[in-house]
Amino acid sequence: MKNEKIIEQIEKWQKCDYVHALTCGSNTCDNVALVPIEKDGIVILVCPTKNCDYKQSYLPECVLSADVEGIEDSIGNIINKIKRNN
Ligand SMILES: [Zn+2]
Repeated sequence: MKNEKIIEQIEKWQKCDYVHALTCGSNTCDNVALVPIEKDGIVILVCPTKNCDYKQSYLPECVLSADVEGIEDSIGNIINKIKRNN
């Protein structure tokens, strides 16, 4: 997968309301969503918090291979059904 595709895929995952975002692993940040960037030819995740230098190069395979639109569609449909029945 090209780096720009990887970044696009991770951004989709990070914005999806129905999955848990990849978050900063530092003890001082609480559930801060990481941001994908290209550095030295590879994609890494960095924490956007000022003064936090948390970085990770591990990109979970389940995030890279996830069908995020599919997740949003199926959960969106379930939520609509529940709303119609109430
Ligand atoms: Zn952080």
